[in-house]
Amino acid sequence: MGRQQADHLDPATPQAREDTARLFFALWPDEASRAALDGMAQSSREACGGRAMKAAHIHLTLVFLGNVAARRIPELCTLAAGVVAPRFELAIDRVTFWPHNRIVWAGPGVCPDELRRLVEVLEEALQAAGFGFDARPYLPHITLLRNARAAPPPQAVAGIGWRIADFALVQSLRRDNASVYEVVQRWPLGVCRT
Ligand code: ATP
Ligand code: MG
Repeated sequence: MGRQQADHLDPATPQAREDTARLFFALWPDEASRAALDGMAQSSREACGGRAMKAAHIHLTLVFLGNVAARRIPELCTLAAGVVAPRFELAIDRVTFWPHNRIVWAGPGVCPDELRRLVEVLEEALQAAGFGFDARPYLPHITLLRNARAAPPPQAVAGIGWRIADFALVQSLRRDNASVYEVVQRWPLGVCRT
């Protein structure tokens, strides 16, 4: 076997490594909802300590794909463009602390059917197209604080209503040793696709 061919087969060589992107589908807030969610993060921080999530990064993950070959991003966009699901109102009325990773997060006390269905529709389309994703039971959560010390006392943080009118494909990048999220594309909900 020639040297060139051997290099190609070695997974450590750049030729053999495929470009990948760390991706997830998410609900990405509009400016008003972002400000309201940031307000929840700030009032949680007063009660729980820790570091508030950068307002520009606040989101709700729908389906986490992990590393995907970058050449398949257009396929993901086509798949997402075919999703038909209604708009809905999401009541973010619960703030919880996870001691294992010291995260304080917000979410709906009850997951609305529309949200559960949107996740299912995406997962079905991803599965049919052969994409891998985290298939654990869906628990909607919005990270508000990292390195927190406790849960906020009851009633310390006022809930909000978030009107969900679209969803997004988001790329997670590492910059200066921290995760940075960039919206790849957004798709409106509540439209009839023919
Ligand atoms: P970091 O990993 O640097 O602490 P992060 O968890 O916010 O930051 P990512 O790991 O890229 O960044 O995750 C992006 C989003 O996907 C986050 O909302 C995260 O909670 C969610 N996520 C990450 N891994 C999984 C997984 N295995 N299953 C479901 N959701 C996940
Ligand atoms: Mg992570």
